[in-house]
Amino acid sequence: MSAFRKIIGLEVHVELSTRSKMFCACSSEHFAKPANTQVCPVCLGLPGALPFANREAILSTAKLGLAFACQVNSFSKFDRKHYFYPDLPKGYQISQYDLPICVLGEWTMESGKKIRIRRIHLEEDTAKLIHSEVGGIKVTLVDFNRSGVPLVELVTEPDFENGQEVSEFLKEVQKIVRYLGISTADMEKGSMRLEANISLGELGSQALPDYKVELKNINSFRFLVKAINVELARQEEILAKGDSVVQETRGYSETTGKTFSQRVKEEAKDYRYFPEPDIPPLRFDNNEIAKIKASLPELPKEKRNRFEKDYGLSALYCGILADDLARADYFEKAVSLGEKSGFSAKTIADLMINKNMDKDFSEPAGFIKKIVEATHKVYSSKEITETAVREIVGAEESAVSDYKKGKKQVLGFLVGKAQQKLKGSADPKVIQEILLGLLEES
Ligand SMILES: [Zn+2]
Repeated sequence: MSAFRKIIGLEVHVELSTRSKMFCACSSEHFAKPANTQVCPVCLGLPGALPFANREAILSTAKLGLAFACQVNSFSKFDRKHYFYPDLPKGYQISQYDLPICVLGEWTMESGKKIRIRRIHLEEDTAKLIHSEVGGIKVTLVDFNRSGVPLVELVTEPDFENGQEVSEFLKEVQKIVRYLGISTADMEKGSMRLEANISLGELGSQALPDYKVELKNINSFRFLVKAINVELARQEEILAKGDSVVQETRGYSETTGKTFSQRVKEEAKDYRYFPEPDIPPLRFDNNEIAKIKASLPELPKEKRNRFEKDYGLSALYCGILADDLARADYFEKAVSLGEKSGFSAKTIADLMINKNMDKDFSEPAGFIKKIVEATHKVYSSKEITETAVREIVGAEESAVSDYKKGKKQVLGFLVGKAQQKLKGSADPKVIQEILLGLLEES
């Protein structure tokens, strides 16, 4: 039992899949595109270029907020966040400081525990630095295709206590983002990026400690969980010795299984935030917010609950089926088609989950046709069945005599034996019919 209270908060960045970038008309689809082919004066940060905000990105941010029960601010604005780094040609990033689009959300975990969402804001992504070698010299190249792609940041309160809770929450964020259709949330392509703030506090006290360690640049749920556990243990060891933990940013090495120092964290005041003068503030009226809320699709949790209720499936099955929106839709189509052929939702779910049968058919109709064919197969002829049944009756003397003494339940055993001999190729009704005839006459 730990002598400390574990305190974990999350920051999740999601790149929005809008057609154009956040503040210009360049395409936002940058993955694997030739370097610096999707750029303009705005996203290159050239002097005098004027940004204009992407409406769809703003709507997507509001949608995400509403999915997490956030309040959408009726008035919000963009701010300049200053820092100097080669991936940021303007010397500042357009982000949101004190008035983000969404605040004060909440998410209920499977356990019933509530996680508070502090804010969800919108900003622009930076350019990508590529560390390479040109003519034998180590260089850093800059690809501006990603510069200015809309990026949403969701920040939670430090309400998590372990890696498992973090993993459950992040998987849900990924699913929700995909259900809303606002991002691919593909971690390998960097369209979903995770950061965790970790510290240890006094047991029994709600006060937050005066430091936090930021875990950054971890691109899988599994590694983040590992990194969190390792980092919690590292801090505990330091504090147990009476030392203090340095506030810094740390990475995680998959090879050593340890976290390592990357840089000492800047304070918020270092960014010298001030309102972005080139973009007017954003205003949402209540009607507009209600309309966006009404436009939200059924979300993963609602779908799981409905599947449990409508189809009587286990929570595990509902979770698997609702993991992916396309598969959930496929399942429901298959169920409605399957009903006509007498297949239950449970049978269809079984074949999808345990046999992955849906993967062979792009359309549910093909999948159902296959099950119909497979179950209404051509049985062995009556003659072949009869020969096998006769052999079983001859071989299973004691079962036959039990039957004659009135132990009718051995019938099932004999049917099973005959079916085994026929390798399951016979119609069980025919076996039983022949069997009853033979038992009566013998
Ligand atoms: Zn551009």
